Amino acid sequence: MSNSAESPSNRPLRVAIIGAGPAGVYAADILTKSNQVKDGDLEVSIDLFEAYPAPYGLIRYGVAPDHPRIKGIVNALHKVLDRGDIRFLGNVTYGRDLTLSDFRAFYDAVIFATGAIKDADLNIPGIDLEGSFGGADFVSWYDGHPDVPREWPLEAKEIAVIGNGNVALDVARILSKHADDLLVTEIPDNVYAGLKASPVTDVHVFGRRGPAQVKFTPLELRELSHSKDVDIVLYAEDFEFDEASDEAIQSNNQIKTMVGTLTNWIAEQPEDLSELTASRRLHLHFLHSPVEIHDDPAHPGKVTGMSFERMQLDGTGNAKGTGEFVDYPVQAVYRAIGYFGSALPEVGFDHSKGVIPNEGGRVLDTAGSPIPGIYATGWIKRGPVGLIGHTKGDALETITLLLEDRKTLPAAPAPAPDAVVALLEGRGIDFTTWEGWLALDAHERDLGGRAADAGLRRERIKVVPRDEMVEISRGGVTAQV
Ligand SMILES: Cc1cc2nc3c(=O)[nH]c(=O)nc-3n(C[C@H](O)[C@H](O)[C@H](O)COP(=O)(O)OP(=O)(O)OC[C@H]3O[C@@H](n4cnc5c(N)ncnc54)[C@H](O)[C@@H]3O)c2cc1C
Repeated sequence: MSNSAESPSNRPLRVAIIGAGPAGVYAADILTKSNQVKDGDLEVSIDLFEAYPAPYGLIRYGVAPDHPRIKGIVNALHKVLDRGDIRFLGNVTYGRDLTLSDFRAFYDAVIFATGAIKDADLNIPGIDLEGSFGGADFVSWYDGHPDVPREWPLEAKEIAVIGNGNVALDVARILSKHADDLLVTEIPDNVYAGLKASPVTDVHVFGRRGPAQVKFTPLELRELSHSKDVDIVLYAEDFEFDEASDEAIQSNNQIKTMVGTLTNWIAEQPEDLSELTASRRLHLHFLHSPVEIHDDPAHPGKVTGMSFERMQLDGTGNAKGTGEFVDYPVQAVYRAIGYFGSALPEVGFDHSKGVIPNEGGRVLDTAGSPIPGIYATGWIKRGPVGLIGHTKGDALETITLLLEDRKTLPAAPAPAPDAVVALLEGRGIDFTTWEGWLALDAHERDLGGRAADAGLRRERIKVVPRDEMVEISRGGVTAQV
């Protein structure tokens, strides 16, 4: 490794992007297609690092398996990575396999695109009881994440899901759907077997505010009614609208549509709920604030119920407590009140927002000044809200700033592309490559095809254990770069 820093203007700009979720791939794509690069004014050489052996982040390990259209966004990302001008290095974890100083040695600029994988905390009594789960952990399980246990305890007949966003709906939909209706998706076999054996009859989704304050999107909400043999149940006393709700309904088409959907559903519902015919029910409750998860003497340490305070709207769209409490018998509770980013070694972290402190994507030091050559994009930059499409805007903003800074980036002392590979090999890290992912992708499709031959219409069956993913990706031999 040379100690003398070459000027980046005499060679391609070396850029490392850490995280191959949508934000990382969009950042790489936008940089390679920038005017500076197209005009021949700048040459870039990009390495895209990923902790998993597979790319695509939460599209693979977050988006629900029964959302094939959204999962299909990987086709566009695949095209970007398949062009050959962005090098994928998988199964490499920043902070464990490579440090920031390693990246500083090889790259002129480093972009963190590490997203979020954990649940936001819900600090109420009983949250640690057996049967209380993080929605993100359940999502990781049903989406075949390589680092979570294969088994998931699905023993509850009645389940509470806390939260009023799309993730809460995903969790509630997957918990309530009949497993056979998910078999056409890419769910791994252990997930099918677990869901098939679930005795669930009632899934209750609870939101703190009213129907006009939900954070769902209309498509996700409407989709609930497509689950076979699952009735949606609503409660008239939860349908409260204040002045702010009326304004939101008038001014926001999404809210108008969702309130319309909910009011139609409740209007069509039989007054006597015993007339409902499905074997499972999905209840949507509003104006319920979680108070406590409890056990009982017959089942100490295990969830047996949950208490809520009834809320009322305060005129501004916010909710305040009424002092009235209600209990629901449930044997499992899933909190789905949001995701939260994780701190990374050697870079700052805003513990209230769960992001790397940054200004438009320029990462800041503790004094609030930009750290030359360090950037962030996607959920770790902006926080875990918004759809995949929003990460494109994040990436554009970050790359625009990086290009503005390019003349003053700290030049890497060891910019040769094979230097990082030599270091990974020297450290005995079983990194995977794009060719490795193509092999794993083909293998998963082949597994799906074999199931399809047996009449099951499965496009892919995910390989779950990390060792197996790495072995298939590396073809049993040293990865080719
Ligand atoms: C349950 C769920 C369902 C969703 N459903 C939808 C949907 O239907 N439609 C939609 O548009 N959006 C959906 N989203 C939102 C969408 O997933 C996000 O907007 C998007 O994935 C954020 O992109 P990102 O690249 O910032 O983060 P991520 O997708 O999280 O990607 C970050 C990547 O960085 C990697 N990484 C993390 N730490 C390290 C490290 N130390 N070293 C190396 N690599 C690392 C991770 O492994 C991951 O691959 C959903 C989100 C969730 C949580």
